[in-house]
Amino acid sequence: MGKVIKIAKHACICPVCHGNGYLRIATGDTSKDFRDNSKVVQCEQCDSSGELEIQEPTSEFLESFGSKRLQ
Ligand SMILES: [Zn+2]
Repeated sequence: MGKVIKIAKHACICPVCHGNGYLRIATGDTSKDFRDNSKVVQCEQCDSSGELEIQEPTSEFLESFGSKRLQ
């Protein structure tokens, strides 16, 4: 009974950490031992959530949307 209507989340995968919520950055020679020569830092871009909330549409977005041809 009753369909569950999913509301699209206004979020996208964080392009900085690729949805991981953290980044591994090199601290030394990663060609020897990547794990020993790198460290994990929390992603500041998405506050370690791995997702970014979609901001208000930009004017470019609105323009591209408005310029779409109707068929
Ligand atoms: Zn991130």
